[in-house]
Amino acid sequence: MREPQSRRSFLGVAGAAVGFSTTTARAADSESLAILGGKPVRSEPYPHWPIIDQDDERAWLDVLRSGRWCRLNGDQARKFEEAWAHLLGAKHAIAVANGTSALVTSLAALGVGPGDEVIVPPYTFVATVNAVLLHHALPVFVDVDPETFQIDARAIEAAITDRTACIMPVHLGGSSADMDAVLSVAQTRQIPVLEDACQAHLAEWRGRKVGTLGNLGCFSFQASKNLNCGEGGAIVTNDDRLHDLCQSFQNNGRSSSGLFAYNLPGANLRISEFQAVLLARQLSRLEDQSRRREQNAQYLTSLLKEIPGLAPARMYQNCTRNAYHLYMFRYDANGFSGLSRQRFLQALAAEGVPAAGGYTPLYDEPFLKNSLDTRGFKAIYSAQRIANLLKGIHCPRNDQLCKEAIWLTQTTLLGPRSDMDQIALAIRKIQRHASKLVKA
Ligand SMILES: *Cc1c(COP(=O)(O)O)cnc(C)c1O
Repeated sequence: MREPQSRRSFLGVAGAAVGFSTTTARAADSESLAILGGKPVRSEPYPHWPIIDQDDERAWLDVLRSGRWCRLNGDQARKFEEAWAHLLGAKHAIAVANGTSALVTSLAALGVGPGDEVIVPPYTFVATVNAVLLHHALPVFVDVDPETFQIDARAIEAAITDRTACIMPVHLGGSSADMDAVLSVAQTRQIPVLEDACQAHLAEWRGRKVGTLGNLGCFSFQASKNLNCGEGGAIVTNDDRLHDLCQSFQNNGRSSSGLFAYNLPGANLRISEFQAVLLARQLSRLEDQSRRREQNAQYLTSLLKEIPGLAPARMYQNCTRNAYHLYMFRYDANGFSGLSRQRFLQALAAEGVPAAGGYTPLYDEPFLKNSLDTRGFKAIYSAQRIANLLKGIHCPRNDQLCKEAIWLTQTTLLGPRSDMDQIALAIRKIQRHASKLVKA
């Protein structure tokens, strides 16, 4: 903290030396960057998450006192499933322990296993890829469309082989992947589609809720997500057969005919009644909160797109509703006197607007190579096939996006519209003084 002080007094002296009045010097001083000791644009925190009230408390306590904590003897999970399916316009919903479990269960229902390939985007949360690896199938990365941050659906066709068992688009940040292009190639090549909608609660493609467009759709209700019960997840589908398979898998392979009839492979990935009752309560606010995020995000885009060096994520034309789990934009240091993204993020945080640089290239993380190096994978795949898979990973646009991306999280969008003005104000302030920071 001493350095900024001495810089300020230095600037004051320099100002006097070249004939600035003291008032000008002082005005410039109050404008100086928070990271250099100036006053931050914002000092209040963003809205707290999750938002809970007395009804949540009462509902949760009712479950506690009932002693029915497991869905096998309660009805909270079933009630939530009905509400979620109804809200999304899906025939079935199955609530599970978390989003990862939803993905693992869905891939099991599709019969994805050893020898199979699954097409995934590289710009996603690691769980998308882990779900594939847990079934001893191989993830095949299709590069991103950097303008939208979504999988480049036009590049999927070229990645399909006779072993492709599933296409897994991710609706990243709450926007939608190009589902027209995904569904068209999937139909032509007769490959099932599993939508990872873990970030896209209530998002829409051509007026239909994402997650209901493919064969199966998965949601996460983990603490950071737009619908939150700490940990939770759900699968939606219109397919009766897939529904039965998912139902069975997440319930230790039970058949619907009885508690002690085990037909299929499975695990216990069930949701608890505590999670389910919180979801039911949180669901009552989801529509309002989503509308607010969307309105704020649209306004923020109108402000940020006027700032040289910033490119807010574009939406595909048929994405008719964006859930804005993340507000994503690309940062070009050339618009900010060469200021690095990392330094920009530090300066922005100091102004009271926390933001993140987002994902790193997943295929460079050790988990991938280490997973493929386990005995299970080695027993299934030849060393040559694994080497070819790793060598074949070529996602230069994702590499670039990972360097340029900036995210604001969904809670940043839950306050008043003036919060958006403040974000733009903080960014413009950093831009005006960027050259000083580059030198600092
Ligand atoms: C959060 C998330 C998941 C996993 O959900 P969990 O509930 O954390 O297991 C999967 N995919 C994406 C894209 C996610 O954001």
